[in-house]
Amino acid sequence: MTLDYNSTVDKIQSVLKEKTKRYAFKKLEREVIKTGACVECGSCVEACPVDAISGNRVENQYVPTLTGDCTSCGICYAMCPRAFAIQDTLIGNVKSAWKVRSLGDHHRQDGGAVTAFLEYMLDKKMIEAAVVACQTPDIPWLPEAKRVTSKEQLYDCGGTIYTHAPVVSEMIKGFKEGLSKQAIVGMACNIDAIERMESHVAGFFSVNTAASVFKISLFCMESFDYSSLSKFLKDDGIKIQDVKHVAITAGQFIVSMESGDKSWPIKELDPAASSSCAYCQDFTGISSDLSCGNIGSDEGWTTVLVRTATGEKVLKGALKAGIIEAEELEPKAVRIVANSARFKKNKFYKLAAPH
Ligand SMILES: Cc1cc2nc3c(=O)[nH]c(=O)nc-3n(C[C@H](O)[C@H](O)[C@H](O)COP(=O)(O)OP(=O)(O)OC[C@H]3O[C@@H](n4cnc5c(N)ncnc54)[C@H](O)[C@@H]3O)c2cc1C
Repeated sequence: MTLDYNSTVDKIQSVLKEKTKRYAFKKLEREVIKTGACVECGSCVEACPVDAISGNRVENQYVPTLTGDCTSCGICYAMCPRAFAIQDTLIGNVKSAWKVRSLGDHHRQDGGAVTAFLEYMLDKKMIEAAVVACQTPDIPWLPEAKRVTSKEQLYDCGGTIYTHAPVVSEMIKGFKEGLSKQAIVGMACNIDAIERMESHVAGFFSVNTAASVFKISLFCMESFDYSSLSKFLKDDGIKIQDVKHVAITAGQFIVSMESGDKSWPIKELDPAASSSCAYCQDFTGISSDLSCGNIGSDEGWTTVLVRTATGEKVLKGALKAGIIEAEELEPKAVRIVANSARFKKNKFYKLAAPH
């Protein structure tokens, strides 16, 4: 029997073409970016080995855009936290659960635990930098990702901004500039992106084994689209630049201004939610070292779920160093957190298919 060389090559090439075509940037664009599932984390931009993708700001949204030649390697798709990520546990693996309050004098959203943990890690040189989110100087409440290396910079970035920030992109930039140990703060979607980089064979951390990241996730029911949120406020006569503080507590979205507070049931804000949140069913950020939120603790405290040995070392170290005070949570408080996680999952399953 003679081998039909040409037809074999043709066959292999067509199979390869078919396979790689499925993983070109176009697939990411079609399934994730155009459907509104993109979480604006910047991992596809940073993962592209030929720098063919740019993160452009379009109407105050971070939009990954093909600006070079796509080689159809599929890495952008494989690294995307929305490409095929579905988690099946409620709050994931929890070693211990705490209510924590920072003893430092700094701006904070709840107990200031997140800022205190990062302060401790910087102080003990466990990390060279922490990636957080601060308000963009010229656009109030639009977050920008910031790499901070000092307590003063960290203190400037306390508090929550309820909009996506490309923190993952900023973290990768830090590693590319020569850092090897960083911490990052983000919502579950950001932490998912990093988990993908750690677990996938072509992921950043599989290839760069000297790089390590400590992950702090913020509990998140939903995040907001910046333009829709400003419009929601404007329709109620509030200029976003007049807002001094934003909080979500007990099902209410509360904004504080010099003239006083105004609140709405969180449900009313649904139209302003980021479309990507419709794809998320992880409330606590199960792939993190520490997960932090307010639900489950008294006002002025942060609920902290410890998931890893390093997470435990940081919490216990900060406690011993007198940076925080902390108490273990009662099981009923942990159940409150799990109920919020269940609520988020239910929301996910009741969703109609995206456009
Ligand atoms: C979109 C969103 C929705 C949330 N929803 C809930 C909820 O439903 N229930 C709940 O219990 N908690 C929720 N949280 C978490 C909560 O608001 C607090 O962030 C958390 O309790 C930690 O408070 P803290 O005082 O310990 O943090 P702080 O010490 O004030 O530090 C907060 C840290 O988070 C960083 N940060 C702020 N905004 C962002 C952002 N957008 N992306 C990345 N980093 C950021 C800051 O730079 C700072 O380093 C949400 C947070 C976000 C961002």
